Amino acid sequence: MVAEVIVDIAHSEVDKVFDYKTDGVGVLLGSRVSVPFGRMMTEGIVIGLKEKSDFPEEKLRSIIKTLDDFPVLNDGTLKLAGYIKDEYHVPFALALRLFIPAELRGGRIKEKIVSYAELNPTVSPIEMVASLRKGSTAQANAIGYLRDVKRVKLSDINEKFGNQAIKKLIDRGYVLISSEHASRTPYKEIEAYSKKVSLTDEQRSAIESIESTDKPVSLLFGVTGSGKTEVYLKIINDTLNKGKTAIMLVPEIALTPQMLRQLRARYGDDVSILHSGLSAGERYDEWLRLKTGEAKIAIGARSAVFAPLDDLGLIIIDEEHDGSYDAETNPRYKTVDVAKKRAEFSGCKVVLGSATPSIDSYDKALSGEYNLAVMKSRVNGKMLPEFDVVDMRAEIKRGNESIFSSSLKNNLQKCLSEGNQAIVFFNRRGYSRQVICRDCGYVAKCKNCDISLNYHKDGNVLKCHYCNASYKMLSACPECGSVNLSYSGAGTQKIVDEIKKYFPEARVLRMDNDTTRNKEGHYKILKEFADKKADILVGTQMVAKGHDFPSVTLVGILDADMSLYFSDFRSNERTYQLVTQVAGRSGRADKKGVVVLQTYNPDHPVLLYSVNYDYTGFFERERSIRKATGFPPYALILRVMIESFDEDSGISVLKSVYEKLKGVYDGNPENFLFFNKMKSPVKRINGKNRFQVLMRLTGNYNAVKNEIYELSLAEKTADVLVYVEENPANLY
Ligand code: ADP
Ligand code: ZN
Ligand code: ZN
Repeated sequence: MVAEVIVDIAHSEVDKVFDYKTDGVGVLLGSRVSVPFGRMMTEGIVIGLKEKSDFPEEKLRSIIKTLDDFPVLNDGTLKLAGYIKDEYHVPFALALRLFIPAELRGGRIKEKIVSYAELNPTVSPIEMVASLRKGSTAQANAIGYLRDVKRVKLSDINEKFGNQAIKKLIDRGYVLISSEHASRTPYKEIEAYSKKVSLTDEQRSAIESIESTDKPVSLLFGVTGSGKTEVYLKIINDTLNKGKTAIMLVPEIALTPQMLRQLRARYGDDVSILHSGLSAGERYDEWLRLKTGEAKIAIGARSAVFAPLDDLGLIIIDEEHDGSYDAETNPRYKTVDVAKKRAEFSGCKVVLGSATPSIDSYDKALSGEYNLAVMKSRVNGKMLPEFDVVDMRAEIKRGNESIFSSSLKNNLQKCLSEGNQAIVFFNRRGYSRQVICRDCGYVAKCKNCDISLNYHKDGNVLKCHYCNASYKMLSACPECGSVNLSYSGAGTQKIVDEIKKYFPEARVLRMDNDTTRNKEGHYKILKEFADKKADILVGTQMVAKGHDFPSVTLVGILDADMSLYFSDFRSNERTYQLVTQVAGRSGRADKKGVVVLQTYNPDHPVLLYSVNYDYTGFFERERSIRKATGFPPYALILRVMIESFDEDSGISVLKSVYEKLKGVYDGNPENFLFFNKMKSPVKRINGKNRFQVLMRLTGNYNAVKNEIYELSLAEKTADVLVYVEENPANLY
């Protein structure tokens, strides 16, 4: 037998299949093997087996051994790796690495061993105690304790009775030690919890629709609080009952303790968590439990789509619209696309869930490519919370220069006095560099792209990140002549300080990147808030995601319009999603919810659609804008990035990439809506100079796209990085 092996070296020069003899070594498809390569030994993955090589037998070297007791990939995941290699133009080795915990590669993993203590059964505890020296109370107590509990972790009794005492007992032969391999269970402190519910009619028909459709992908479009989690749990349950396994993806696992808790309650150790925030050991243990079939459900952020499950029956992507599903490092995969491919190769179903589907997914649902399941109302029949839209221009005219409108202050007052909780959402990311008139709400936009401009201190200009047009910085508002222009703002800490000023008694929690640095930081803050140890939660995007706090009756959205003006073609979409998601935290249980939305543009169509919960209206408008201006999903944005420490070598690679691509452009003008080379909007990051060729493709562009990838990547040199991004979230 001959094995086709991909060696674990992610370099384009060795990115090919190497044949090895398998003689004697029982090699299976998808196995990790150790092979000689050049003068060294390396690890590789067997991606094919055949009777004969095209190379003469005597030229072939032999596989030394297999590295695990099982193949790490199966037929479906091997095909998926192949797809990723082709689609994102990365070396096969890099695609394969997605499926293997980093700790396994290079044999770096250490098993966690736990030692246990128990009394020596051949000596009676009474004899033991009698033989002790007078005053050895700790030893005597330890013997008594062990007699009662039988077997216990060594570390526990060491802590209880002191290492000294226990060591003496071990030396005397009274206490015996044994060791075991232990699985590290992440998020142990998240207790299993579930409440028994009977499904609503809407939930039942959504489940029915998802389970009976013969389309591979379903979009579950359910308003906030419609009970999507119960739908997920039921279809997971039905999948397991058929003897199959399931993957559940969430945008950020630390933000979804509720989901974890319910899965734990129902499936206990059948659930495995895959998450980059875990320790290396934990990650490996969880991976292994899935690989060996001990666990049947994988829950995790985007990389869990690579979970090593056999007999996969279901992949759920919750909050499918979330930006975290786009990988931003090589390979720059799109999780929804990868999930669909995995489903195709392993014959399973995909369910995309959201209260605010991405334009792309809803478009596919309307066109019939996806099955559409809709849940229009909240489970308890409660109305969605009502909006109070506050015009901040009017507030300023009335002399209120504070971040808080009087409506928000009054509502906070009321909420607190009734013993309820509030969430104050603040879009710090919004405070990048858009220029907005504080008097009339005017925002500077690009004439070509209808996308807001970014202020660049460098040169004191306004720039469009999509077409590179440059405009003179404004000294006054072109609409109303005001000089009250703003392009910077406060931070979350400032908001907390403000709240304390008005409500000195209130207990305030802050959740943002600064307060959630450590592993379970999110979880701790959410738990504190859920336990009602705080009255107000102030935070960025993180507070918007899926939380279910029954006591929250007020949500305040400060500067709702800021996200409208990100220089991102998705900014309308993101704004609609954010407003709807944050608002959806209010009034989820019995008490009625209110949302105070502060804006300088109360008449902006996107905000109007949001406050009326009119997703379809929003969608129709957005779709026609995207069609008219040639943006995704009706076009593809491609950006070839060139990065180098040395400016001149960067420029020279930029030139050669541009020359090559210019050829493609000239040969296929019908496929290009836009083609230009330029410096990147942010010219230097960490000392690296950044250049780009930006393109928008239309029509049947697949061949052109592949050509662009190949020609560009071929220009990469030892010190100039070249990569390609598709529909990048930020053009910085
Ligand atoms: P969504 O994800 O759609 O915003 P959740 O799944 O968080 O909504 O559900 C909202 C709340 O409704 C949760 O507290 C959940 O336990 C509860 N719930 C879900 N389904 C039912 C049901 N059939 N009967 C009663 N309560 C339910
Ligand atoms: Zn103005
Ligand atoms: Zn432009």
